Amino acid sequence: MDDTYKHKGLRKKLAAEIAARGISDDQVLNAIASVPRHLFMDTAFLAFAYQDKAFPIDAGQTISQPFTVAYQSELLQVEKGDKVLEIGTGSGYQTSVLIEMGAKVYTIERQKTLYDKARHFLPSLGYNPKMFYGDGYKGLPSFAPFDKVIVTAGAPFIPEDLTKQLRVGGIMVIPVGNDKGQVMTTIIRTSENSFEKTELENFRFVPLLGDKAW
Ligand code: SAM
Repeated sequence: MDDTYKHKGLRKKLAAEIAARGISDDQVLNAIASVPRHLFMDTAFLAFAYQDKAFPIDAGQTISQPFTVAYQSELLQVEKGDKVLEIGTGSGYQTSVLIEMGAKVYTIERQKTLYDKARHFLPSLGYNPKMFYGDGYKGLPSFAPFDKVIVTAGAPFIPEDLTKQLRVGGIMVIPVGNDKGQVMTTIIRTSENSFEKTELENFRFVPLLGDKAW
């Protein structure tokens, strides 16, 4: 499958739609206009790749809606060279958007099929995150601290193991709630022992699974 001028045109249009919905960070919009989303999707959904919608991928999971990817990416305030921990690699689309924004991404996926697929597919596009198969609730203590942490599945609570892996001044973006919906939440580590929490808009993600999932 190629990346044609037609695909590039559709991506630009998608970035413009997302801008019209309120995303203003050029770094985010440029990344949306750059990452070839059609290559991340099953062939059955190719025609819909540049619609602003989530679609099924393997293992009963989803590739997130582009607006959601843009919304979380904007909240992260990525600076070039930031070390970002991502929980929930999925298709690797969000991972690739963060890499386009200049982040060094460490990403964890709990579904072996998705991990294996992303491990082979992302480098073929020139994206080289550090990829891990395992339980994202625990994060990656041996690689901490991280400048930013992003969770791309709905979490029933804010995992303390993840907040502990943020550097002071670091930002976490995590949807928190239950299977009916979640509130996008940001956590800023303001000092060694203090965190500032802000609750934003409602979203609906697949659940962050693990021992303590709902
Ligand atoms: N951002 C991804 C993309 O662009 O394709 C979509 C992520 S999908 C909405 C959520 C992902 O989180 C799924 O791939 C799921 O398997 C994964 N996940 C769920 N619980 C997890 C856990 N405890 N640790 C790591 N990954 C987990």
